Amino acid sequence: MSDPQPSVASLDTIVSLAKRRGFVFPSSEIYGGINAVWDYGPLGVELKKNVKNAWWRAMVQERDDIVGLDAGILMHPQVWVTSGHVASFSDPLVECAENSHRYRLDELPGTENLTETDKRDPAISERLNLKCPQDGSKLGPPRRFNLMFKTFMGPVEEDANVIYLRPETAQGSYVNFKNVQQSTRKKLPFGIAQIGKSFRNEISPGNFVFRMREFEQMEMQYFVRPDDAARIFEEWLPRRWNWYRDYGVTETRLRFREHAPDELAHYAKKAIDVEYLFPFGWKELEGIHNRGDFDLSRHQQESGQNLEYFDPATNEAFIPWIVETAGGPDRAAFTFLIDAYREEEVRGETRVSLALHPQLAPYKVAVLPLLKKRPEIVDLCQKLLGDLRRDTMAVYDDTASIGKLYRRQDEIGTPWCVTVDVDSLEDNAVTVRDRDTMTQERVPVEGVKRLILDRLAASLA
Ligand code: ATP
Repeated sequence: MSDPQPSVASLDTIVSLAKRRGFVFPSSEIYGGINAVWDYGPLGVELKKNVKNAWWRAMVQERDDIVGLDAGILMHPQVWVTSGHVASFSDPLVECAENSHRYRLDELPGTENLTETDKRDPAISERLNLKCPQDGSKLGPPRRFNLMFKTFMGPVEEDANVIYLRPETAQGSYVNFKNVQQSTRKKLPFGIAQIGKSFRNEISPGNFVFRMREFEQMEMQYFVRPDDAARIFEEWLPRRWNWYRDYGVTETRLRFREHAPDELAHYAKKAIDVEYLFPFGWKELEGIHNRGDFDLSRHQQESGQNLEYFDPATNEAFIPWIVETAGGPDRAAFTFLIDAYREEEVRGETRVSLALHPQLAPYKVAVLPLLKKRPEIVDLCQKLLGDLRRDTMAVYDDTASIGKLYRRQDEIGTPWCVTVDVDSLEDNAVTVRDRDTMTQERVPVEGVKRLILDRLAASLA
């Protein structure tokens, strides 16, 4: 079998499509932008919302054993001391001798195979003869740079009032473990799912929305009996892989990668990433972690609150272990977007389309007039649009010829176009065109909505 290739050779293809069509814009662009913060435009906000809905559906709606939570971004500062983030949520930073340019050590050319021990070695820059990519000067020894954003709570800016913007959503689920368990009366194993913003002062962000300083996470904490953890960890691997596959990611561009013992985070007993072959190489899409009893034991110890679970069946009280699935809607939406990108020759022209899963597509259907000068055609379009909009995201466009209108919808991934023509006024039927096959079928006006909604529902199966 030949080696898998990324869906697009260059990230620029996606970045320019995203900007041109309103998926993603650089933040504060009129002021020159701000590094590693991106804004979602009219289509991007729909795509990302659909990704979050698809995740929530699989993780919460369709399961008995997982419930949702929306904890605050700001938390008691002790949470981050207890969790280990204040002491060790850091990356290795190196600085150049000449101009104090700063880099994350393990993202410099020639550092691809560094072990965690190498990353802490004060002589590493010298040993590998690392040079500043901008001015060629020597790079100094690595030091740990904490990734948490700090701010102040209340009107006095002093050390006692320092708090952090959360760097992960997981801690909100741990500190609410008892609240959720007691209010829902869930028995082990059960999970808490959360989607929300997290912030990390990344040293070298980049690759578009892959690594941002402000981003969202979709994390699920599954509380289990200690002796079940290893088995349950294995069960989550195919579930998370299949979720990406079912929503359209090409399987040959997915792989699992297990963390080496010296790479494991301070809390982890075992960690396996689902990786995707991006245009810039294999990178983490989501992490699946066996966190043992680290989190709840530490929070119990530091808060003085009993966080044990009492099992009525066995009369035992114990600290549950945690299996976590940690992904993010920005990285997932980006992956779905890249993987859906298609270019093909059609009648001597390049057709660009996004073969997005219908559930993820920003618009499900576009209503297009063949002749915008005929008021009866436009009226029928508006009637259809109004009806479709009650149930789904639909859009109207009459600003070009029909061929161009189809191409525009293809490029943003709209699965179906409905065209109203002169005959429609006579036979009360319209043309439904499919994005991927480009086939067209004639459908009675009153059956259009049912057809679109049925196809949308069928895409879930
Ligand atoms: P990395 O090694 O890439 O820095 P990580 O292992 O620290 O990532 P986790 O802490 O496991 O990442 O975060 C869980 C998920 O949150 C990631 O899989 C990713 O989807 C998302 N995520 C983490 N950091 C960022 C970021 N800077 N920008 C966008 N998404 C992110």
